[in-house]
Amino acid sequence: MQVRRPRNHVLAIFGALMLAGLVGIALISYLRARDLLHRQISGTTLPLTSDTIYAGVENDLLQPVLASGLMARNTLLADKLARGQSDPEGIAAYLRGVQEHTGAVTAFLVSDRSRSYHHPSGVLKQVSPTDPQDRWYYRFRDSGRNFEINIDRDTADLQRTTAFINLRLLDAEGGFLGVVGLGLDMRSLMAQLQRYQERYGGRILLLDQQGRIKLAADRTTGSLEDIKGLAPHRKQILSAPSHTLHLERMGSDSFVSSRRIPELDWLLVVQQTSSLAQRRLENLLAQNLIAAVLVSLVLLALAQLTVGRQQRELERLACTDSLTGLLNRSAFEPLFLRQVAEARNRREPLAVALIDIDRFKQVNDHFGHPQGDHVICQVGRRVVHHIRAVDLLFRWGGEEFLLLLPGCAIPRAKELLERIRRDLHDQPVSLLNQKTVPPSPDQPRPDLLPVTISIGLSVHRAEESSAELLQRVDEALYCAKRGGRNRLCTA
Ligand code: GH3
Ligand code: MG
Ligand code: MG
Repeated sequence: MQVRRPRNHVLAIFGALMLAGLVGIALISYLRARDLLHRQISGTTLPLTSDTIYAGVENDLLQPVLASGLMARNTLLADKLARGQSDPEGIAAYLRGVQEHTGAVTAFLVSDRSRSYHHPSGVLKQVSPTDPQDRWYYRFRDSGRNFEINIDRDTADLQRTTAFINLRLLDAEGGFLGVVGLGLDMRSLMAQLQRYQERYGGRILLLDQQGRIKLAADRTTGSLEDIKGLAPHRKQILSAPSHTLHLERMGSDSFVSSRRIPELDWLLVVQQTSSLAQRRLENLLAQNLIAAVLVSLVLLALAQLTVGRQQRELERLACTDSLTGLLNRSAFEPLFLRQVAEARNRREPLAVALIDIDRFKQVNDHFGHPQGDHVICQVGRRVVHHIRAVDLLFRWGGEEFLLLLPGCAIPRAKELLERIRRDLHDQPVSLLNQKTVPPSPDQPRPDLLPVTISIGLSVHRAEESSAELLQRVDEALYCAKRGGRNRLCTA
């Protein structure tokens, strides 16, 4: 009863250590897997995606850019314009050839002198500074740049996006003659970007040097500053030829790779999040944690069961007399205190008797210790036979027994104890391995031994300690011995 607390304490420590161990293993595996995932994304997936998209952009844009470069360096064309010769037919034929050769949607030439907008089908119109549609021409002319790519989104058909490559056409002295260029269908490039974006759950952007979004698979417009998480890294992304970033955010990490496409003066930015795979890892972690708690609880319950059983057995053994199987002296104090408390609550008397076998030493001397032990057991069994279930019988030492009789005052206790004393007096106890037939009929049976007991009796007094009570009972027993044995005396 008193040993239970330390046991629970030890089990709790054991359970906590086991749980901590299992949770630790689950957490370490999670962190390790997350680290591997991050390394895989930043080391493999992201560069591969970036390379493939770079190749796609190169394929769809670089070839036409080179072709338009050749247009700008066409000296015949430049000479013709420089000399003010208007040859609309010749220019249209040339533009048709370029258009066919490059697979462009359109090819064009705007002469600065005549303001004619040449098209593969002929002169389409005259550009004018007041026409909003021609604003691009004046902007490009005044920008001083030799090359630009303009993305034109068709407002009616969102799928339809055209990239206009504009190049400055110069005469031999570097004087401005006009603008040549191509219009390219961006549908297949857009579709490719979208496919990648869907497959990798990331974001793909093409930016110009100022960080303006030129093309985005998710049709984001605006600039780098508008994109959450990327704005603080604007400078690095725009200035470095290539750059890799790891952005940590609650729940999902993201990785950003940026690289310059020098031929276009653009930047390719690929952002990839680990959220999907990370969520899977977090689910796995949650499952592992639940499993850890369950395993700990099951093992703890098993340990509690096993240890509890052993503990109870130990407690039972600690309270039991090995010879008689009765309660022993160590079990007395707690049980006595409990009986005292119950007797007080119920306002009932509690009788206590000390029973001692008379002249037991002679039994030992005459028959030997094993027979003596046997007699002690027999006497104990006889007493048990007479007492009630609520009564408690202890082997007090040697050949002495102590009996607690709850709810018994002296008369009732006396009645019960006299019955026991008479029973032993009237019926001898048996001895071990003795012949049952006496040598002559007038002699007693050799296997039977008459035994008597002396008894000291008292009733517990309020506030009396066990030692004081036992002292009085012992005196009563001494009185019975002095009075001639085989009798009962009350204190
Ligand atoms: P009395 O009538 O005065 O009680 O006489 P007694 O001989 O019974 O008294 P005493 O206390 O002198 O003797 C008790 C004997 O019990 C002494 C001891 O050797 C013996 N004894 C004590 N424990 C055991 C035991 O476990 N087994 C056996 N066989 N004998 C025991
Ligand atoms: Mg004795
Ligand atoms: Mg004795």
